[in-house]
Amino acid sequence: MARTLTNWAGNVEFEARRLHRPASVAELRALVAANDRVRALGAGHSFNRIADTSGVLVSLDDLLPCVIDVDPGRRTVRVGGGVRLAELCAELRRHGLALPNLPSTPHFSVAGAVATGTHGSGDGNGTLAAGVSSVELVTADGSQVVLSRGEDDLEGAVTSLGALGIVEALTFDLRPGFEVEQYVYEGLPWSALVDHLDGIYSAAYSVSAFTDWDGSLRLWVKRRTGDPLPDLTWTGARPADGPRHPIDGMPVANATGQLGVPGPWDERLPHFRAGFMPSVGDELQSEYFVPRADAAEAVKALRELRAFISPVLQVGEIRSIAADTAWLSPSHGRDSIAFHFTWIADPSAVAPVLLRIEAALAPFGVRPHWGKLSSMDPGTVAASYEHGHRFRELLGRLDAAGKFRNELIDSYFPSDL
Ligand SMILES: Cc1cc2nc3c(=O)[nH]c(=O)nc-3n(C[C@H](O)[C@H](O)[C@H](O)COP(=O)(O)OP(=O)(O)OC[C@H]3O[C@@H](n4cnc5c(N)ncnc54)[C@H](O)[C@@H]3O)c2cc1C
Repeated sequence: MARTLTNWAGNVEFEARRLHRPASVAELRALVAANDRVRALGAGHSFNRIADTSGVLVSLDDLLPCVIDVDPGRRTVRVGGGVRLAELCAELRRHGLALPNLPSTPHFSVAGAVATGTHGSGDGNGTLAAGVSSVELVTADGSQVVLSRGEDDLEGAVTSLGALGIVEALTFDLRPGFEVEQYVYEGLPWSALVDHLDGIYSAAYSVSAFTDWDGSLRLWVKRRTGDPLPDLTWTGARPADGPRHPIDGMPVANATGQLGVPGPWDERLPHFRAGFMPSVGDELQSEYFVPRADAAEAVKALRELRAFISPVLQVGEIRSIAADTAWLSPSHGRDSIAFHFTWIADPSAVAPVLLRIEAALAPFGVRPHWGKLSSMDPGTVAASYEHGHRFRELLGRLDAAGKFRNELIDSYFPSDL
């Protein structure tokens, strides 16, 4: 009997009963052409049904050759969609090159992360999709479509929610490798965050606040070596006296190096180390993006909900993301602050809290993370993207029969059929 397939967190049982693992691009194309319903699965780290299909689920993990082609002259890399961020980072480092920013952990597949608008923190850093200059898709009839910078459709094809086809490869812009030092500050007063949010988030290359939304508020500050040394004691916070894990009680060894010890970009920008358990494991996640200009008011609105949030929360994180141009990037067209929640693994306890949060953030034109839990009305979410109608048109054009659609995609971008 076929084994049940689940996502990483175990809260989603996929409808598809088998994971196909083509060994070559030719096999992948034939598989796509021969089936009515297909979706790609990356590392399975999304918390909702975005990767699911009633048909054939495809992993690129066994695809050969494993493509990571660095072009040092042009400072670009062409990378296979199934490659994990950690593998990509290791290869870039060997060439003295870097991505501008990384999410909290490098365990994701490159294509899965880009498809959902995955991001880290930093006033000058967009989502991972912001650095993509070309997308190579296997489309519904098994043929290849390449969309590159300069073509309008590229902005629709990067954060594609996996709905346009199977991403065989992506090309990223790179920059010279750099070192980063990480400092943790504790005891930040809430009033300082609300009154000086811009000053705090602009203090370094990447700044995150971790909180239980009740008492504790900690800053994780990542400075590029050579940039001015941030001193955030003016906020009332004090430097931590030892290394910390973002979540109290979890092993510090799983977290990336702190106390200002310089390290390569890919060993400091994520919070969690490659090869170690990221986050908690037994958890659910949600994340909501609001325009930067509304962030302080949004913090106040969420603080009002702390009696509901804290009992079901493992940790919250507040990050800053620069505006970008991908049609479905959650920070499309607006510098954003994102409120992330790592919940306890109890969907029924978390669901009513999501409703309260979504109601509290509704006045700010909130957009949920595509790969995390939300109960927002899909029509309202789609309408918050000014190019949502163009994405729907692109879907119809590249996948007229709806091969790569699933229930989640249909709810946001109904088919015209
Ligand atoms: C511990 C943990 C920490 C996290 N931290 C962050 C964070 O810091 N920042 C953040 O923004 N998010 C974060 N997330 C969410 C995560 O980044 C997204 O869920 C991301 O999509 C996961 O990548 P994946 O490879 O697991 O994709 P999957 O969940 O496997 O797939 C996501 C989507 O991509 C599509 N897809 C995957 N591969 C392909 C392909 N080759 N071609 C076409 N479509 C494809 C799938 O069909 C699906 O629609 C975190 C999740 C976890 C579990």
